[in-house]
Amino acid sequence: MLKIKYLFYIYILFSLLLGCVTKEIDRDVLFQLSTINALLEGIYDGEMTFKELKRHGDLGLGTFNALDGEMLMLDGYIYQVKADGKVYPAADSMKTPFSAVTFYEEDKTLILDSTLDYKSLEELLDKIIPTENIIYAIKIEGSFKYVRTRSVPAQEKPYPLLSEVVKNQPEFEFHNIKGELVGFRLPDYLNGINVPKYHLHFITENRKGGGHLLECKTNKVKIGIDFTDQLFVYLPQTKEFFDADLNKEEDLEKVER
Ligand SMILES: [Zn+2]
Repeated sequence: MLKIKYLFYIYILFSLLLGCVTKEIDRDVLFQLSTINALLEGIYDGEMTFKELKRHGDLGLGTFNALDGEMLMLDGYIYQVKADGKVYPAADSMKTPFSAVTFYEEDKTLILDSTLDYKSLEELLDKIIPTENIIYAIKIEGSFKYVRTRSVPAQEKPYPLLSEVVKNQPEFEFHNIKGELVGFRLPDYLNGINVPKYHLHFITENRKGGGHLLECKTNKVKIGIDFTDQLFVYLPQTKEFFDADLNKEEDLEKVER
């Protein structure tokens, strides 16, 4: 009888240890709130606080309630690049209508000591990843000869479509600047759920500028890639989300580039 009792305790101990191991594996999850097509359809009401979002990752990107700027999460801090081009720290109580985050753990590192524009950088990254069929979190830090970004102004209801908003998007240019690019490369088959291929947001080293990346020229950067094999999509239970047509074939190129 005593033996059985001990066996039981060993079983409990084992389960707890296994639980810890499982938690480690769960860090390779891309957690996302809502879908890109919902954002394109003008669903800009914040659905989740940043306090909650931080439970699911320490690196990522997204936007704010009412589409009030570009969000970048880095090392667990959340930055808001507003339409005035300035960077504001985001409070935990603020909400996001669309975000994607993960716990960043670098699987591959590459030092790049040459000048590549955004397209060439994408081509290089495409060569060093083992497959196009999984998710990659990306962190590129160092010096850039040039960076061009955009942000979006806060919207009022009734919310316009994102394609309308970006027609008047403020753009920002940086020359010979140090900073970090943060974001993801997603498979094409996730079209409609998130942005296929590359989506990066920029923040300057002094945390005073940044935004959604439109163009860049690298100088000397360290490229880090986190292979991510799980996806969790949290869907809003709101009337707006329930009633939206989320099956449209959207032209993301216009909105994201
Ligand atoms: Zn963006």
